Amino acid sequence: MAQRTALIVYAHQSPGSFNAAVRDVAMEELKEQGYRVLVSDLYAMKFRADATRDDITGDLKNSELFQYGEETMHAWLKGNLSDDIVEEQKKVKEAELIIFQFPLYWFSVPAIMKGWMDRVLTQGFAFSLERMYNNGIFKDKKAMLSFTTGATESMFRPDGINGDINVTLWPLQNGTLHFCGFQVLAPQIFWSPAHCPAPVRSMMLEGWRARLKGLLAERPLTFAPCEFFDLTFQGGFLLSQKVKEERESEPYGLTTGHHLGKPLPPDNQLTAQSATESSAGECRRKD
Ligand SMILES: Cc1cc2nc3c(=O)[nH]c(=O)nc-3n(C[C@H](O)[C@H](O)[C@H](O)COP(=O)(O)OP(=O)(O)OC[C@H]3O[C@@H](n4cnc5c(N)ncnc54)[C@H](O)[C@@H]3O)c2cc1C
Repeated sequence: MAQRTALIVYAHQSPGSFNAAVRDVAMEELKEQGYRVLVSDLYAMKFRADATRDDITGDLKNSELFQYGEETMHAWLKGNLSDDIVEEQKKVKEAELIIFQFPLYWFSVPAIMKGWMDRVLTQGFAFSLERMYNNGIFKDKKAMLSFTTGATESMFRPDGINGDINVTLWPLQNGTLHFCGFQVLAPQIFWSPAHCPAPVRSMMLEGWRARLKGLLAERPLTFAPCEFFDLTFQGGFLLSQKVKEERESEPYGLTTGHHLGKPLPPDNQLTAQSATESSAGECRRKD
């Protein structure tokens, strides 16, 4: 059997950080399970975050009006993307699991990791209008966010000062990872390690190690499948009337984003729903 590959896209400046410790646990545990583990240590690589004309080698399709998305798609087709992007795309292709390891910055990933997403997930390579979400290009791969916070867990509750963490995670988990087709595993959140006693931090790392042992067997998070929508510009890519009617008596919205004006489905972006949860059955991935 071919060796399985995991990729850890890692963004922290300090080898002594808690993020580094979390990354090391993942590397050790996945290697133990027989994985070949690739790490993209973005700061060490001095990975460029800015999406510019320099990402394309050779001539542009339209040098009068530079359009990054169009030009990089064209360059990907022609094999004209810059070496650093090609290298990362090769890793993505090889990996069946990608873990994004980072400290939460401004409710999101650090700029260097956002740059990785902007530059590596090129149109054509990672998505197209025909191949997105549950029909996406990476639908046979799994991806997840693993991150540390400054805030405590209660600060990110729906009644906490920062608001619901499910809302914070929606753009990254739905808008980036699932958009490219990835099956998104529940996030691993290390709440406020800097404010925890050392034994609690050790327990967090051991909890992560234990989770990694069964990670690939976990059910992914639930998103609304493309089949629920009218996938035409004429139809506005809107949820079909039939699905709306079917959902009418449901107490909760479909997902964190597709809330349909109802209360958000609890922890939609934090925990995978079990096979027996009825309202999830309809919107589970079809692949
Ligand atoms: C620009 C910016 C924006 C931010 N935005 C947000 C935000 O929107 N929301 C939010 O919640 N936070 C935010 N933060 C805070 C940030 O998320 C936290 O500072 C970060 O997640 C802490 O993780 P760390 O790895 O840097 O911790 P560190 O400070 O490196 O580590 C925490 C503790 O763990 C210890 N440690 C290291 N290795 C081990 C080990 N092996 N075992 C046990 N202990 C160990 C360290 O010594 C340290 O005491 C922001 C920070 C910045 C700089």
